[in-house]
Amino acid sequence: MSLSNLAAIDAAHHIHPFSNMKELNAKGTRIITRGEGSHIYDAAGKKYLDAFAGLWCVNIGYGRPEIANAVFNQMNELAYYNSFFGTTNPSATLLAEKIASHTEGQLNHVFFTNSGSESTDTWLRMARVYWQAKGQPEKRVVISRRNGYHGSTVAGASLGGMKHMHGQAGADVSDIVHISQPYWFADGGEMSPEEFGLKMARELEDKINEVGADKVAAFVGEPIQGAGGVIIPPATYWPEIQRICDAYGILLVTDEVICGFGRLGSWFGHQHFGVKPDLAPVAKGLSSGYLPIGAVLVSDRVADVMINEVGDFFHGFTYSGHPVAAAAALENLRIIEDEKLVERVRDDIGPYFTKAWKSLEDHDMVYSAENVGLMAGLQMAADKTTRARYKKADDLGSFVRNVCLENGLVLRATGDRMLASPPLIITEEEVDFMVKVTRMGLDAAWKVRADYL
Ligand SMILES: *Cc1c(COP(=O)(O)O)cnc(C)c1O
Repeated sequence: MSLSNLAAIDAAHHIHPFSNMKELNAKGTRIITRGEGSHIYDAAGKKYLDAFAGLWCVNIGYGRPEIANAVFNQMNELAYYNSFFGTTNPSATLLAEKIASHTEGQLNHVFFTNSGSESTDTWLRMARVYWQAKGQPEKRVVISRRNGYHGSTVAGASLGGMKHMHGQAGADVSDIVHISQPYWFADGGEMSPEEFGLKMARELEDKINEVGADKVAAFVGEPIQGAGGVIIPPATYWPEIQRICDAYGILLVTDEVICGFGRLGSWFGHQHFGVKPDLAPVAKGLSSGYLPIGAVLVSDRVADVMINEVGDFFHGFTYSGHPVAAAAALENLRIIEDEKLVERVRDDIGPYFTKAWKSLEDHDMVYSAENVGLMAGLQMAADKTTRARYKKADDLGSFVRNVCLENGLVLRATGDRMLASPPLIITEEEVDFMVKVTRMGLDAAWKVRADYL
């Protein structure tokens, strides 16, 4: 099968997610055929350093035979059974225990799903059912943030704060309201980041008072917003959010779909920021993307009510606790443990990456290059002192991304921010390559920056 044949077939039959299909069909899709370590290869044999870990998920890197073997063995043993009618399978049960063991007792219970979006739907229903069971059924409202991302089911799109998604039948779930994101560069004005972090957190308090605390079920936020542009909140933000949730007795939900499983140099993002969630959806790094699987991690506080008061939660998926996906995830977590990848990100490659990435701040295009562990964002600015922005920000980001791509590096662009989220196994040489090629992209952009002002 020739390349042009496959591209033509794809254009004729395959509708891609989050893609302008008219443009894509005209241009032809890139066809990825192989992955090994931190690299992917396209059908023409070109090699790329995948500094985005697929879609924030391939934490252990590509091509691990251990996962392939675990999946092979599980399929031969038991390819499928459900966990609905009083049954389980060993992989699902052991996976629940293994995940809980990394939460320091905070999240002792696990509900399995197949994706981050399904996890969003699951905790949203669970949070409302929790308050119902506690005799406060009017506590239904969930507060989330503009420019947050929680998936693209109807509940995911509604809870997320993406305007373009809301515009496409994406704000249909009732009793969801949004507050601002803690994006200091864009909205902080003359405030210090610390003052601004407090101000943004206190929008939660204002919103609770506006809606009425007796109507608010939960607040949800990604520890660091991913798809929104790797927005790293000021240090004052999360502790204040915790204080407010405690003071008003509302559930705190941290969406750990990206931050979970080592990316920030902690097992979970809430541990990095020192907060104690009641519920935490996960997916992506749970299996390093080798098979689709997600989960909602549940605290004793919520689980006690779900188990002892609700009893039967009328919710679940045919593939909840799928044995093969669970076997892949178990082996993935074994690798993360045995190779000490979380510690590696915290103490070793993370600090190395920070230094290398930060070196880009001397570039004329760059306002800041920040990261926590191996989750990074680079902010471009038209004026480094006033924080003035390029008007054609989306085109600028795409331009830099495309130059990087031509030179063998996969990065992501969100407007005038370049995003990186490499596999946790990335080497120092690969980090150096990443920063070198990113600089090439920025150099190229500097020459044509007038086009984007
Ligand atoms: C990717 C993502 C989701 C959705 O996960 P899917 O598996 O794509 O449904 C939810 N929340 C966050 C923070 C994500 O990054």
